[in-house]
Amino acid sequence: MIPFLDLKAAYHVLASELDEAVLRASRSGQYIGGAEVKNFEALYASYVGAKNCVGAGNGLDALILALRALDIGTNDEVIVPSHTYIATWLAVSAVGATLVPVEPASGRYVLDSFDIAPHITSRTRAIMPVHLYGIPVDIEGICSLARQHNLYVIEDAAQVHGATVNGRKIGSHGDAVVWSFYPGKNLGALGDGGAVTTNNDDLAQRIRMLANYGSEVKYYNLERGINSRLDPIQAAVLSVKLKYLDQWNMRRQEIAQRYQAAFAGLPLDLIDVPQHVSAVWHQYVVRTPKRDDLQTKLTRAGIETLIHYPVPPHLQQAYADLNVRIALPVATRYAKEVLSLPISPHLATDSVEKIITAVRRYFGG
Ligand SMILES: *Cc1c(COP(=O)(O)O)cnc(C)c1O
Repeated sequence: MIPFLDLKAAYHVLASELDEAVLRASRSGQYIGGAEVKNFEALYASYVGAKNCVGAGNGLDALILALRALDIGTNDEVIVPSHTYIATWLAVSAVGATLVPVEPASGRYVLDSFDIAPHITSRTRAIMPVHLYGIPVDIEGICSLARQHNLYVIEDAAQVHGATVNGRKIGSHGDAVVWSFYPGKNLGALGDGGAVTTNNDDLAQRIRMLANYGSEVKYYNLERGINSRLDPIQAAVLSVKLKYLDQWNMRRQEIAQRYQAAFAGLPLDLIDVPQHVSAVWHQYVVRTPKRDDLQTKLTRAGIETLIHYPVPPHLQQAYADLNVRIALPVATRYAKEVLSLPISPHLATDSVEKIITAVRRYFGG
């Protein structure tokens, strides 16, 4: 069986370095904050080219912290993609703001400024683009649209560690750029983790304060904050894994190129990556109305696949009370048609070839 994602394999490749990092953090006696967290924050800020990086407990908290730190809440509208992981939506709901879901153009997976512009109203406060599947959005276009309308841009960058647009890394275009270090992400911890990167020093300081009980000086609380901090053991792990991120992303790109070339003639909708961006292929997604049958046949051939995502946010029970029951046909159709093939950096070349053969055979190729 070819597993969809073998996290154990990723651990074993770096086992001695990771074990050493975990031991160092364990022996430090500093179990909240401290040198390991500071060190990773500095490394990651420098890697993505941002002035500040503030660690958080996970990606969802980091999204909520960014929204709160920008004072977005009740009566504010926030533009989100209809086709995304539900965390993007949950963060907006958590601060009491109104979700304004926007569909990508048919056949595309991420939002463009053209998709977003018609949805801006006098109540819009922020745009939350999602760099889905490791494919960066046209962040320059979106930021310039936001500037014209005096809106914040909060990027959901949970799937795009290391990607670039016109040669510049994702990490400092928007007002706040939000990261998840969930184990399966391109840069994943051995547990939960998250962060916000930003060039805005005041914003970084407020996020750090909100993430730490609303406190800057112990036992003195300026605001009603939460407790959501990056764990020092996870920070130590992430500092090790960051060194390998580019190399691992390159392996993902190599596999994606091989898939793109091998599937080009098939009746499959492939992701079209614009020339000026470098995608980091968090997922390799194909689309076909025969999705369920293709998945069954691949499972029989010993290939594990996943669906990102089987139920779109607007059709989740969690949003059964969505005041406007909006029709979102693109997101609805994608949930029935998308299929993610294995693309981890540790996927062996013969497994890649086996997957290609099985997919081509399915379509009689
Ligand atoms: C993983 C993910 C998140 C949430 O991250 P957690 O660390 O799991 O809370 C948010 N948005 C997107 C698009 C994600 O893929």
